Amino acid sequence: MSNEQAPFKIGQRVIAIKDHSSGDFHRGDEFKVLHIKPCVCDHWQVDIGLQTTSKYVLCIPGGKCTPVVNSVAWYHARCFAPIQPAYESITAELAQKGMEVGDTPDVPLKVKDAVNAN
Ligand SMILES: [Zn+2]
Repeated sequence: MSNEQAPFKIGQRVIAIKDHSSGDFHRGDEFKVLHIKPCVCDHWQVDIGLQTTSKYVLCIPGGKCTPVVNSVAWYHARCFAPIQPAYESITAELAQKGMEVGDTPDVPLKVKDAVNAN
C-alpha cells in the first residue's frame, strides 16, 4: 500500500496526459474522479466512471492481476493530471457537499469570484 497522499480528490476534474494502452481513453480526455484507492503495488488508482467487461485487470507497473469489482475500470493515477488546481479544489468541495457547479444559481458566481481572487 502507498504511504503517499492521494494525488486527487473525489470530485476533482482531471485530464488524461497519456493514451490508454487499450484505447479506453486518450490524451486530452477529461474526467471526474469518482473514487480513488491505493493499488496492491504501491501507487494510486482512480475510478473515472469507465466500466470494463474484463474479470481481471493487469496492473502494468506492478505486473499483478487484480479482480474487477462491479465492472469498475481502475486506472493508474499517473495517467491523469488535475485541471486548473485552484478551480478544482473548489469543485471538489462542492462535490463533497453533493453539488455540481451550476446546480444553484449563486454557485458559479462564488466560484468565479474565488478564482479571480487568486
Ligand atoms: Zn498496481
